Amino acid sequence: MTRKDSVKTSLPELPPEADPTQILKSGLAAAKGPVALACSFSVEDIVIIDLLQQLAPETRVFALDTGRLNEETYQVAESLRMRFDLKIDWHFPRFDAVEQLERTKGLYSFRENLDNRHECCAIRKVEPLRRALTGAAGWITGQRRSQSVTRGELPPLEIDEGNGGILKINPLAYWSQEQVWQYARSKALPTNKLHQQGYPSIGCAPCTRAIREGEDPRAGRWWWENPEHKECGLHQS
Ligand code: SF4
Repeated sequence: MTRKDSVKTSLPELPPEADPTQILKSGLAAAKGPVALACSFSVEDIVIIDLLQQLAPETRVFALDTGRLNEETYQVAESLRMRFDLKIDWHFPRFDAVEQLERTKGLYSFRENLDNRHECCAIRKVEPLRRALTGAAGWITGQRRSQSVTRGELPPLEIDEGNGGILKINPLAYWSQEQVWQYARSKALPTNKLHQQGYPSIGCAPCTRAIREGEDPRAGRWWWENPEHKECGLHQS
């Protein structure tokens, strides 16, 4: 039996609409090895950091510095580092790949077509993610079902085939945006200032805009693309 099969068969049954603490506890137990949180400093990730402080404070928190993040994202990262004495495991893209991309295609090639956008995300996000997950038996994400059409069927626990069959834990799968904010406010957690400026979802600065009233929460990500393309390659099972 491969390690992937062994994790798969031991995936615990969760009640429908299980709460984040239940999902996290079950996922951490099922992983049978080190688990890490992928943190983009969204309000969702910050809520999970707070939950982990109570459940498993030794959990590694890693972040991908794509080189194109907003200043506000660095500010909230620093606030979290100080509030929780948090050690953030930063990962950068390979400098030679970024140099090659910018020398040959310029600084905004991702706006030209989907292939170029995927190329940039592959260099700045996906390859560093692979390195960040080295040795991990599972990873935790802040994804929620109600964020977009691409996440409508998101399971709370899943096998991540794209990353070697490790466990992927999505503790906020069933939570609404309102529930996330209610939790963050109740604990007075530091949050990214861009959330107050109409950015429910925050990624790289040139690929994220504020949304208008009534728009999908992820409408501001790669806003020039169709909704079904709005993923960066980090979350493709
Ligand atoms: S979100 Fe935009 S800038 Fe960031 S890695 Fe993807 S294409 Fe590049």
